[in-house]
Amino acid sequence: MVSGGAGSWLAAKVDMAAHPSDDHRFVFADTLYEDADCYRFLIEGVAHLLGRRLNWPIPSADDFPDYRVEGEFDIATYAGNPIWRAFLADLREQITSALPELVWLADGRDPWEVFRDGRFLGNSRIDPCSKSLKRVMLDAYRVENCDPTTSVFQIGIGPHEAHRYHRLAARMAADGWKYEAPLLGTREGEFGPFGYLSDAGIDRPRLYRLGYMHNNCGGFCIKAGHAHYLNRLRQQPERFAYDAMMEQKLSEFIGKPVSMLTDRSGDGSKKLLTLSSFAASVTAQTEFDFLPGDSGCGCMIDIPANDNETATPESDAA
Ligand code: SF4
Repeated sequence: MVSGGAGSWLAAKVDMAAHPSDDHRFVFADTLYEDADCYRFLIEGVAHLLGRRLNWPIPSADDFPDYRVEGEFDIATYAGNPIWRAFLADLREQITSALPELVWLADGRDPWEVFRDGRFLGNSRIDPCSKSLKRVMLDAYRVENCDPTTSVFQIGIGPHEAHRYHRLAARMAADGWKYEAPLLGTREGEFGPFGYLSDAGIDRPRLYRLGYMHNNCGGFCIKAGHAHYLNRLRQQPERFAYDAMMEQKLSEFIGKPVSMLTDRSGDGSKKLLTLSSFAASVTAQTEFDFLPGDSGCGCMIDIPANDNETATPESDAA
């Protein structure tokens, strides 16, 4: 299971070294909202693991069009930037032909379309984006293409988040599926992926270089906290501004205030904190009680206990 993150690349490398004669597949669920350099890394990383050279140059981040929609638009009819979507569709088709081991799944929507369609902005407890664009896709792939008696799923969980693996493995085992985390209990897991990427001559994805803790959804995430968004505001203010604009558009579409972040100042109760308000509040601040970029996301494998819960507009609280 590859997310475009460095951890899943290293997990695949460790597993392939341990089981060199097994039949390996690299299953990727595309949110159509990944960072351009995530796609570059995904392709370059998998080609390297397979010892395969493509007979065309892997596009660099600069070769990708912008993922954002330019100018004024209505979120009711939003379907991403058509040039970006067409570029990804073409790339997916080329990869399916050149690297068939890389199974590239896509629902066809991005997180904002999922929120719009469900009239619900996800939050740290309920993540309809990840459910629709990743877990449902991966579950369907597994059921249609895998055999529980022979298939083993490898995930890129590191030692600092082992609890995530144990929770997932127990849950999947109950359904008859075997999940492993090759980085747990190994030297590679302790060292982390970046040295191995450097040895392989592969540039680490640029979001890590910008201080992000994960390489999902182009650095956007409904589960992220203040530290993550402070880092985004500082490192990529134009992307932060786009997130804030989309949050505002969704709020107007739903017809009530919604926000990804919450404010617990004052009496400690949760209050909505829009990205625009957050930006205004931190601009004047010079000291913070969190480190920029110290929060990550494991939404592909973190199955919420309430995963079958239907999000309603009323439950769209902070
Ligand atoms: S990374 Fe965040 S925004 Fe993207 S699918 Fe996962 S939970 Fe949703």
